Amino acid sequence: MNYIVLDLEWNMGTPREELKVMPFEIIEIGAVKLNEDKVETERFSKLIHPRVYRRMHWKNKSIVHIENADLKKAESFEEVYSEFLAFCGEEPYIFCTWGDTDLTELQRNIYYFDCIPLAEGPLEYLDVQKLNGYSTGMHKKRISLEKAVEEHHIAEISDFHRAVNDAAYTAEVLKSIDKSIEKYTSFNNYYVPKDIDSEIIRDYGDYIKHIFRCFKDKQRLIHDKRVRSLFCPVCKKELEKEIPVFSTNGKNYLMAGNCTEHGMVKAKIRIKKNEQKDQPYAVKTIRIINDEEKMILENKYQKFISSKSE
Ligand SMILES: [Zn+2]
Repeated sequence: MNYIVLDLEWNMGTPREELKVMPFEIIEIGAVKLNEDKVETERFSKLIHPRVYRRMHWKNKSIVHIENADLKKAESFEEVYSEFLAFCGEEPYIFCTWGDTDLTELQRNIYYFDCIPLAEGPLEYLDVQKLNGYSTGMHKKRISLEKAVEEHHIAEISDFHRAVNDAAYTAEVLKSIDKSIEKYTSFNNYYVPKDIDSEIIRDYGDYIKHIFRCFKDKQRLIHDKRVRSLFCPVCKKELEKEIPVFSTNGKNYLMAGNCTEHGMVKAKIRIKKNEQKDQPYAVKTIRIINDEEKMILENKYQKFISSKSE
């Protein structure tokens, strides 16, 4: 499978101009294609003529070094996107990006300009920024691309904040990450699973991720039997809940139970809103936790109980 390492530059409008469906208009697509052995085989770099936010926003101007005159001469989004798809090619590939925003903005632009979608449901990709954190053992660590380039002693041969350069730097960081960590793929949920059959259940070995379809409303979602189910991520045995489903903020729900063989199991249900349908969906992760995490969870639950009785 090929890797398509992607980076975008975009422009925004003034608050008065801003479109909710597309707050950022893409003005440059840059990409580096790597083969299975992570050897670069091809590069893509194209500017896009903006039609919604025509002048470079002052906030962008100082960061992205693209001139209005160059954008005026550039091709339309539709043209560049179709060239980009041709570049991606017929062979199977996975997108790789720094952070989790590029694929949302790309899909928003594709939707706005009425082009062929990249996917019908959640789009699996490698978030190189996340993987870089994982590779250093710090699962929540997210650093800037510049910082990562420095930490990996990658030669700084071109300017940051031009799409193809940032894609090339991201590709270099990806090369220095151990292949075993690439199993921790991410999903962009711009399009959620359209029904139960297309829901995503991914077994990462030490944890399980389940992306549910949309529900009509939050009440239906949080009372759904499948959403509330708890099982051990290792042996898949159904578990009694020692800590029932609770939430301290109405967005993240937690629960826990004990597998006699594999220890304490925690599930987290994150409720998100789907942009396309304006309906809630859930992402549930289930994993084994250690004693310290168990204590933190129990404390949270106690706090929740006492806040209710007040
Ligand atoms: Zn078990």
